[in-house]
Amino acid sequence: MTDSAHPDPFPIEGGCTCRAVRYRMAGAPLFVHCCHCRWCQRESGSAFALNAMIEADRVELLEGEVERLRIPSASGKGQTVVRCTRCRVALWSHYAGSGDAVSFVRVGTLDDPAALPPDVHIFTRSKLPWVALPPEVPAFAVYYEAAKLWPASSLARRRAILG
Ligand SMILES: [Zn+2]
Ligand SMILES: [Zn+2]
Repeated sequence: MTDSAHPDPFPIEGGCTCRAVRYRMAGAPLFVHCCHCRWCQRESGSAFALNAMIEADRVELLEGEVERLRIPSASGKGQTVVRCTRCRVALWSHYAGSGDAVSFVRVGTLDDPAALPPDVHIFTRSKLPWVALPPEVPAFAVYYEAAKLWPASSLARRRAILG
């Protein structure tokens, strides 16, 4: 697991569905989660959520207005979802663990979602039975230890923002 897993397409851009909001990711994410938990299924209305974790200051709002909405989360500590004020599509989130320092960008809002395939599948205990996972990507029934899975460069970047 190294950054070479992501051929360098950066910066990459994305936006909401009404086209009012455009944003830019300046560089490679720290790690990309494919989460199969019930909460992500409910929030996305689909089988899983795809979140690219990146330093918040590497996500730049280019156009449009966003609003921050607090919603409950599985941890009980809540999640802040950043949405377009017009179409209300969710663009990225902040979770209690890393707070405002890390943005969880919703990969499906990128112009090229294929640029960021999952680095890990989590909460596969609630994975929908018809979703088949590729054997080469790590998968965990619940969660995992970043220290064992993230590339050294991503761990260093995380230390730099979270201490
Ligand atoms: Zn919109
Ligand atoms: Zn989830």
